[in-house]
Amino acid sequence: MPGRWKASTMIAGAGAAVAVAAALGFLAFGGAAAAGIEAGWSGNGGNAVTVTLPTATQRVAIIEARTPGRPLVLIDPGHGGQDPGATAVSGDVSEKDLALQLGRELRDRLASDGRVRIAMTRDDDRYLTLDQRSALARDLGASLYVSLHMDSAPNPLARGATVYSLSDVASDEESARLARSENSALARAAGSDGSVRAILSDLVVQSQMRASATLAERLVRNAGGSVELRPNPHRFADFHVLRSAGVPAVLFEAGYISNVDDEAMLRDPKQRAQIVAALARAIETDVAARSLR
Ligand code: ZN
Repeated sequence: MPGRWKASTMIAGAGAAVAVAAALGFLAFGGAAAAGIEAGWSGNGGNAVTVTLPTATQRVAIIEARTPGRPLVLIDPGHGGQDPGATAVSGDVSEKDLALQLGRELRDRLASDGRVRIAMTRDDDRYLTLDQRSALARDLGASLYVSLHMDSAPNPLARGATVYSLSDVASDEESARLARSENSALARAAGSDGSVRAILSDLVVQSQMRASATLAERLVRNAGGSVELRPNPHRFADFHVLRSAGVPAVLFEAGYISNVDDEAMLRDPKQRAQIVAALARAIETDVAARSLR
């Protein structure tokens, strides 16, 4: 993000930062949780504040919507740092890089539309545990959580995008396997999953699952015709990161980088723009529909 102001040069402390943010017309993030706020940038003429959360190891930029108080969408580019995810069939690019690229493009698209606030779990090549990602969703008070990944399979012909939402029981064995594989990147503290489960009652989780499934269906509908989808593109599995995000959440596998055609598609900015447009439409529709209730 070009032109973002550095906290050290702009502000002395969190209290001052909140005041600065408010004076500039930002919706200041809750002062108690924000150990530090940085104001500045906008790639698209909007406003952004950067918050440092007590539970996070990083600063997080929040891009404001045109109207204050809009729901916040947390975009989570999968993998990063020491965890590259899958490697493309060409060997030239990793899942973590394509996921970050897609995430940035989705952020920029949502920012230019200006209908939601946006934050990203990572905006560089850093390693985050799944718990750090989902903790951000809770700490930022996100309304939606969208995790971005690229698929990979031994069968070089497998291709197409899939949208996963949370379920106790997987829709099929392949989805169960994928969830196990993504969950294995956990490196999370023992017992942390239990604490999340204790916080979230069954009723809350059931409602989270229903809302996540609705978001996934919207994504499938918006992607149809412009994005190559797999058969039965909406699938279910028990993804740790979706469960612990505690908000409506989907995991989007944009295509198979183990397939020559899908890799070319995912590396083509024009074709990525189609994916981004479908994601943005689904997200904005979902937020609008749920705000009406
Ligand atoms: Zn992945």
